[in-house]
Amino acid sequence: MQEKPYFCPNCRSNRIKFNVITSYAQSFLKDAHSGMIMEFTDPNMIAEQEPIIQCLICSFSGNEMRFIKQAEREPRSDSGTMAPY
Ligand SMILES: [Zn+2]
Repeated sequence: MQEKPYFCPNCRSNRIKFNVITSYAQSFLKDAHSGMIMEFTDPNMIAEQEPIIQCLICSFSGNEMRFIKQAEREPRSDSGTMAPY
């Protein structure tokens, strides 16, 4: 994840609250006859080229770059009077 400002391109009201959605791979062994799960390994995080970010305000999710680009297009105004965040 990049240390750059995000801005939700969907609701355009959130720069602060986000989820990062990550994928894990966890291998396990199954008993071929009963179908019972015999053994789980520790989860391995799958390295994403670009993490998926979800806005906690409107639940929109998309590539991190979309949030970064939106923040670059609409930087936060320092006056603080135009936007709630
Ligand atoms: Zn949003």
